Amino acid sequence: MQKIQMKTPLVEMDGDEMTRILWGWIKEILIEPFVDLKTEYYDLGLPYRDKTDDKVTVDSANATLKYGVAVKCATITPNNQRVEEYNLKKMWKSPNGTIRAILDGTVFRAPILVDGITPYIPTWKKPIVIARHAYGDIYKAVDGFTGKGKAELVYTDKNGEKQTTLIHDFDGDGIVCGMHNTEKSIESFARACFNYALDMKLPLWFSTKDTISKLYDGTFKRIFAEVYEEYKERFEKAGIEYMYTLIDDVVARIVRSEGGIVWACKNYDGDVMSDMVATAYGSLAMMTSVLVSPEGIYEYEAAHGTVTRHYYKYIKGEETSTNPVATIFAWSGALRKRGELDNLPDLMAFADKLEKATIATIENGEMTGDLVSLFKKEGITPKKLNSKDFLKAIASRI
Ligand code: NAP
Ligand code: MG
Repeated sequence: MQKIQMKTPLVEMDGDEMTRILWGWIKEILIEPFVDLKTEYYDLGLPYRDKTDDKVTVDSANATLKYGVAVKCATITPNNQRVEEYNLKKMWKSPNGTIRAILDGTVFRAPILVDGITPYIPTWKKPIVIARHAYGDIYKAVDGFTGKGKAELVYTDKNGEKQTTLIHDFDGDGIVCGMHNTEKSIESFARACFNYALDMKLPLWFSTKDTISKLYDGTFKRIFAEVYEEYKERFEKAGIEYMYTLIDDVVARIVRSEGGIVWACKNYDGDVMSDMVATAYGSLAMMTSVLVSPEGIYEYEAAHGTVTRHYYKYIKGEETSTNPVATIFAWSGALRKRGELDNLPDLMAFADKLEKATIATIENGEMTGDLVSLFKKEGITPKKLNSKDFLKAIASRI
C-alpha cells in the first residue's frame, strides 16, 4: 500500500510519563503504517526541558509560528515534588503557559461523543466547545487586606496625571482586589473565537455580566461586537449566528440546548464551566483541546495530563488500560489541518478515517477501562482492553 504523502512538517512536541508511552504507540500503530509522516521533533519531556534550560519549549513554539500546525503530548508542570523526583535545576514554568504566551492563543475544548456513552445531560447530542480567554482577570490580580480606612483605585497616565476612584470606605477589616485586562488581548480572543466558529461551522455564543460590570465586562461586549463586524458577512454565508447574552442566561440556554455551540467564556467562567462540561460529557480522557492564535496557528493536544498513576504501574511492568482517544484526536486534528493548508485531500481523508475507526471501535464494545462503566448500549457488553490492544483494534478498522 502506498503511504499518504505530506508536504510541510508538523511540529511534534513529545511529552511525559504515560502519555509519552501512548505517543510512541499511536505513531507506530496508527499513523506511520499509513502516512509517510513528516515532523519536526521537539522533546518537551521534563528531562530534556531541564537539560536545555527550557529552551526546547520556546524553540517548539517558534517552530509552530513558522509552520502553522503543532501536535503536543501532555507534559509535567513541575512542582516541588517533581523538582526532587527529576533532580531539576529549577522549577520550570508550565510548557503550555510558555507556548500560549508566544502564540497568544485561545484554548478551545471539545468533547468526543460516542454512541453508548450518554452525557449526564441527555439532551446534549452534539459537542459544546468551551473557548476560554486565557489572560488576566483574577488570574493576574493583586489583592490585599485592609483595616479601617479608604481603599482607592489610582490610575496614573503617561503624563503623570492621576485619576482616583474610591473603592470603599472601610470602617473595619476587609479585603480588596485589583484586576485588569488589555484591549489587545480581548481583541485577540474575539478573533480566535470568530475564526474557530467559522472553521467548525458552529454558532458562537459569548457571555459576560455587563449589566453589573458595565465598564469592565462592557468592554468585552463592545470589542466582540466591533470585531464581529469584520466577520458578519462570512458568518451569514456559513449560516451560523453570533449571539451575545448574559452569563446566567447562557448557562440556562446551554442546559436546554442540544449542543453544537462554541461558548466563549471569560477566564474564570471558562475555568469553571470547562470542568462542568467535561464531567457532564463523561470523561476527561475524551476531551480534546486546541490552541488557536489570532493569526490562525493551531496547536492540538489532549485536555488531560500525563496520567502519572498509570505510568508508575507501567514502569513496574503492570498492564495499563490508559485511554489514548484524546491524544489520537490531537494527531488527527493536526494532520487534517496540515492537509487543509497544504491541499492534501488524502491526508484529510485519513484523519477522518482515523477518528471514525476510533469511535467505531468503542461503539462496538472494545474500549479502555475508564469507559467500561460509562458504556451502555443494548446488545453490547463492553470489553476492557489494554492500551496497546485498543490501538491495534482501531488499526484493524482503518
Ligand atoms: P491527569 O494526568 O489528567 O490524571 C488524573 C486522573 O484522571 C488519572 O489518574 C486517571 O484516573 C484519570 N485520567 C486522565 N487521563 C486519563 C486517560 N487518558 N485514561 C484513563 N484515565 C485518565 O492529571 P494529574 O494526575 O492531575 O496530573 C498529572 C501530571 O500531568 C502533572 O504533572 C501535571 O502537571 C500534568 N498535566 C499536564 C497537562 C498538559 O500537558 N496539558 C494538563 C494537566 C496536567 P485514575 O487514576 O483513577 O485511573
Ligand atoms: Mg478548572
